[in-house]
Amino acid sequence: MTFSYCPRCGARLVSRTLGQEGEVPFCSGCQKPWFRMFPSAVCVLALNPSGEGLFVTQRRIPGLCLVSGFIAPGETAEETAVREVREETGLTFLNGRLLATHWYRRDGVLMHLILGRVDEGRPVPSEELTEAFFLPLKEAAPRVDPSSTGVLALLELTEKQALQDEIISGKIEMNK
Ligand SMILES: [Zn+2]
Repeated sequence: MTFSYCPRCGARLVSRTLGQEGEVPFCSGCQKPWFRMFPSAVCVLALNPSGEGLFVTQRRIPGLCLVSGFIAPGETAEETAVREVREETGLTFLNGRLLATHWYRRDGVLMHLILGRVDEGRPVPSEELTEAFFLPLKEAAPRVDPSSTGVLALLELTEKQALQDEIISGKIEMNK
């Protein structure tokens, strides 16, 4: 999102050259640059004790999806992951670890790719989902739509067995 008017005082912004940033919309009244903004979100892969991943399906997105959602102001990406897994499936997400960030070109969103685990339990899909279920990672990958680049990136980052074992065994507890 590029600003034309100052979100604080409503004045029309002018273009100003700011060092290495180049031309940036600038409010002369507030003496403040308004850089382009974009949403931040999480994409979460939760492994169960058998090493299967928690996948979901949605009406408007083709193929398999992962739990995902926008980061709320004041939240860390790891906290968003815990909240979204609970809201979307009713399960408790543990041991979440940020593996990488991914620019999701389709939606203009910065995705935080988070891997963690859930304990035994049956996922109950929220109203915004059609299904929520566990599936071996190798079976899931071919069923992900190519436009879901964040999901594919997270699956690829998770391919190492040693990483999966470490997450499932819960050696590193970053979330309570
Ligand atoms: Zn202003």
